[in-house]
Amino acid sequence: MNKDLRRWIDQYGCHDMCEVKEPSKILAELKSSLLGHDVYLYGAGAVGNTFVRLFRCLGIEVKAAFDKDYLNRKIEGIETFSPDYMKAIMKKEDDVLIISSNWRNYDVISEYIDHVLGEIGSIEKYNGSLMHAPLQRAICAEKNLRGERIEYHECPSCFMERNYCDLLKNNLLACKKGLNINRGMSKLPLIGVILGNHCSLRCEHCVESIPFNRFSRSFEDKNLIIDSISRMAKSIEFVSVIDFVGGEPFLHPDLPEIIEEVIKIPNVGLVNVFTNGTVTPSEKLTQALKNDFVVVNISDYSNQLGEEIIERINKTELVLKTEKIPYVRVKNMTWFDMSSYEKNSDTEEELAKRFHDCRINSCHRLYRGMLFRCLHLYAGYVSGHLSLDETVVNIFDGSSEELAIKLDEFWNRPYSSACQYCELPYISRLVPSGKQVES
Ligand code: SF4
Ligand code: SF4
Repeated sequence: MNKDLRRWIDQYGCHDMCEVKEPSKILAELKSSLLGHDVYLYGAGAVGNTFVRLFRCLGIEVKAAFDKDYLNRKIEGIETFSPDYMKAIMKKEDDVLIISSNWRNYDVISEYIDHVLGEIGSIEKYNGSLMHAPLQRAICAEKNLRGERIEYHECPSCFMERNYCDLLKNNLLACKKGLNINRGMSKLPLIGVILGNHCSLRCEHCVESIPFNRFSRSFEDKNLIIDSISRMAKSIEFVSVIDFVGGEPFLHPDLPEIIEEVIKIPNVGLVNVFTNGTVTPSEKLTQALKNDFVVVNISDYSNQLGEEIIERINKTELVLKTEKIPYVRVKNMTWFDMSSYEKNSDTEEELAKRFHDCRINSCHRLYRGMLFRCLHLYAGYVSGHLSLDETVVNIFDGSSEELAIKLDEFWNRPYSSACQYCELPYISRLVPSGKQVES
């Protein structure tokens, strides 16, 4: 057993916003616990990719990864094998196997590994879901101490809620000149903005329910988007991140102007554009994206798409790379199936727990001046399964001060009304991202 690593996990392990008082010590202890050992990952999906990136920051190179879906899941520069090869590859007693998966899957994977290893079952497994948060936060905290910029484009894959991240907020305030704090206003820190319901793909498990949207295909009006965000920003102390989502944001003809206007709002830190990568950004859009405080997240579903579409994604990536626009390309994630709107029988207490345990409980959606507490409520509304209710805030109603009060009430709700109609985070099925609706 690697006692040092076990001790590190016991001392610092946590699932999310842990405090990192002495980041250098946390990082040095982790590094010394791993040096001299061969480190392997079980799980080559988004979490596995994140671990490889974080370990590289410590100068530790992962030896190999294992994954049942080893043919489709790839980590740059790391070989991925079927779990059947674990016995043959991990031969040394002090080899370290980190389960790099969602916390929810740890027990199941751990049992599966024991089963695969059978009688030799002597390989020590470590729960990566307890390691990721303290490691990521220590890396970012150390950057803050050194006055360096955080790699903002990595934040969406950090699985920490960017909403709550004090490190991100402090880094933006230190690194972006001219930012203001609108003191005394609402604390709501992140807004996800719907740009339209046009998309270049038709994903069966789209969280915004685009293929099942009952309204006619349209782009949201540029002025309404900018006014809505400005209006909200006036009632909020500091907006760390504006997420632009769609449909496919790169299809919106006015996206360049929208980005340029929104990034100028004095208490908005960062704009994050989520794209499926299938639409090559125009020259005008490329110029708008070339801003230190704009980042792009390519959600790449290439396992589910044909060669011609994959070529288009590669082309988009090439443009971003050539133009030095910060981006991440997250390949073939696993999604939760959120298509069910069956009413559950949760008590108030259970709903609050459901909401608390849900990793996406702060994915608000701003759509036509209406603010939805959770994207499941928005998706339910546009697909005709759920109705608008009193929890949806009309952001044009009342003064800035009144809106600030409403936003804090909204933010402090113990759960979203949609939690009654949701299977997350406990029983929802895991599904491959980007599976296309059969037409
Ligand atoms: S959200 Fe960003 S700043 Fe915060 S811990 Fe994650 S990577 Fe670091
Ligand atoms: S409705 Fe509740 S449980 Fe479902 S995704 Fe939203 S916050 Fe999570």
